[in-house]
Amino acid sequence: MLKKLSLALSLIVTICFGLSLNASAQAAKTQVITTTDFYGEVAQEVLGSKGKVTSIINNPSTDPHDFEPTTKTAKQVAQADLVIYNGIGYDSWVKKLNGKKYLAVASLVGKKDGDNEHIWYDVPAMISLTEKLATYFSKKDAKNADYYQKNAQAYIKELKQLTTLETNIAKQAKGQKVAVSEPVFDYALTSMEYKVANKHFAKATEDESDPSYSDIKKLQTMINKKQIAFFVQNTQSDSKVIDNMAKLCQENDVPIVKVTETKPKGKTYVQWMTQEFKQVQKIQNN
Ligand SMILES: [Zn+2]
Repeated sequence: MLKKLSLALSLIVTICFGLSLNASAQAAKTQVITTTDFYGEVAQEVLGSKGKVTSIINNPSTDPHDFEPTTKTAKQVAQADLVIYNGIGYDSWVKKLNGKKYLAVASLVGKKDGDNEHIWYDVPAMISLTEKLATYFSKKDAKNADYYQKNAQAYIKELKQLTTLETNIAKQAKGQKVAVSEPVFDYALTSMEYKVANKHFAKATEDESDPSYSDIKKLQTMINKKQIAFFVQNTQSDSKVIDNMAKLCQENDVPIVKVTETKPKGKTYVQWMTQEFKQVQKIQNN
């Protein structure tokens, strides 16, 4: 009986020990947290099966501009090995939490306060982030360095399809003027060699104040006189002024390019960008 009991005990001990070993092996996996899902995708692509990435804002119905962290967010950030965020004011709340190590995409690509904060619309910046993460993970976990480098190269190959698409669009853009509801798509427009004709109007929408009467009038005139190649509308934010502008575009046969601030559900970053860039290409070919 005693023998049986001790056997049973030792079995329990073994199981428990095994379980705790398992748990510590899991904890050793690299844990990354990102403020938004487009950066989370980059990190996961590079890490592959060697780590876990959690994106705090991963729902298209959450506007990152208005996000406030919860206690759960604070806990996730404190536990992560690396915190990836946008920077230049876009998600500065994350810096107030207790992260062990931070990586700001803005500083990585030399953006400063006051620059357009929608850096993920700048495809070369996404390539830089992929390269940076490959280097970082390779140093942290040297035995898997080749794996990270290979993952990064595969992802960069996909991203380069987007730069090719932009270059092709640029050939036909010829510096034409366009108007935008807000500055979210501006980096892509610059790569495509379009000129934003209503920067002041767009800034007001971004700051969630109404554009001035004179800014509205100017944009209405541009649309009425068809002085813009197209109008870029962020469909994720709702504003009466913008809705009316979109209507005016339709009445005047000015094409609308529909974009979103964050990744649509079920789409990868490349699929998302391709779908938006191709709208521009379609307008060019019409
Ligand atoms: Zn924005």
